[in-house]
Amino acid sequence: VERFEWQRRWASDLASHGWAGPAWPREWGGMGLPLSDQVAYHEEMAHARLPGHPSSSVNIIGPTLIRHGTDEQRRRFLTPMLAADEIWCQGFSEPDAGSDLPSLTTRATRADDIYILTGHKVWTTNAMRADWMFALVRTGDQQARERGLTYLLVDMHAPGVEVRRLRDITGGYHFGEVFLTDVAVPATRRVGDEGDGWRIARTSLGLERSTAFVGNTIRYQRIMGELCDLAVTTGRSRDPILRQRLARLETMARLGAINGSRTVEHALRHGEVGPTSSVTRLLHSLLEQEIHEVAMDVIGAAGMLGRQDPGAVQGGRWVWGFLQTRASTIGAGTSEIQRNTIAEQVLGLPHEPATQKGAG
Ligand SMILES: Cc1cc2nc3c(=O)[nH]c(=O)nc-3n(C[C@H](O)[C@H](O)[C@H](O)COP(=O)(O)OP(=O)(O)OC[C@H]3O[C@@H](n4cnc5c(N)ncnc54)[C@H](O)[C@@H]3O)c2cc1C
Repeated sequence: VERFEWQRRWASDLASHGWAGPAWPREWGGMGLPLSDQVAYHEEMAHARLPGHPSSSVNIIGPTLIRHGTDEQRRRFLTPMLAADEIWCQGFSEPDAGSDLPSLTTRATRADDIYILTGHKVWTTNAMRADWMFALVRTGDQQARERGLTYLLVDMHAPGVEVRRLRDITGGYHFGEVFLTDVAVPATRRVGDEGDGWRIARTSLGLERSTAFVGNTIRYQRIMGELCDLAVTTGRSRDPILRQRLARLETMARLGAINGSRTVEHALRHGEVGPTSSVTRLLHSLLEQEIHEVAMDVIGAAGMLGRQDPGAVQGGRWVWGFLQTRASTIGAGTSEIQRNTIAEQVLGLPHEPATQKGAG
């Protein structure tokens, strides 16, 4: 909670000085920087070890509204979003719809100038703190799959919205479930046309996705250095197997950095991010998992001690990271789905055969 509030104040400070949203147009409170300067911005922020926005889904909903929202929506939402005066969450996944999102069943029924919303979202990061949720909901037939989806902005304080927090493997509460019972959403809160939600969700992310890797690259370089120091201080650095594993991790980190540059290059040339961003995402999620697996091996039995335990190594940070990064290959698209994307869109391999549900 403390860290969240600190991040919130930091976001507010940045916004009040005009130093937030490097990719956002100036008229909406951003900096309007060209892509190459955005890269420099993220590098400097990462070198200074400064945190990101308290609600990372802002990087999704912000560009979505800039590109597809109405003027009224942009005026109403963008400035408080950037300054973290209002917190947002993403309501896409449901208990029976994650990778296969087009099968989602949360229903929005139109009645005059409102939609009545009923359904159940899950794994919603920051749901407990959010003021607003951007959600994909079903307005068309179930059989229409992605063609029957609409993009709505839902007031999390409206009657009929109930949030239950979910405990994760670290013992913390970072996400929750959202139950929606006859929630009234004004039609003016629809983004784009009815039935066009899938296209909007897929095309909304904008070029800044290509610069998102920069901060991570610098962060991994730092953590790799800390992991090597750990191997030295625990007397494990002469172990040839461990040295091989460290070399493999360093190679992955450098490949991630090189591929990230390739994505920026693609964005600069073609004006869109391109599918190689899936390679960077996959590499980064595997890398952060493996770094912590190696750290746990280096520490040995003491690696099981958490923050509160006397004798915990470096305040239990490695075990916390080990547990926390279990989710890295699931959230925002599993690594299997990333591999499918790479196979089909980067390598040009045939599409996977349709599953019973229809793989979309
Ligand atoms: C930390 C975290 C934060 C999250 N935050 C949010 C959030 O804020 N908002 C939100 O909407 N969702 C969020 N999610 C949910 C996340 O998007 C889903 O968990 C993810 O899309 C996978 O869906 P699922 O859990 O239903 O698994 P499933 O889709 O049921 O997948 C189960 C397994 O089957 C595999 N699989 C499925 N389909 C295929 C296929 N076609 N080919 C090969 N393998 C396949 C998967 O890779 C996985 O291993 C979050 C998840 C995590 C872990």
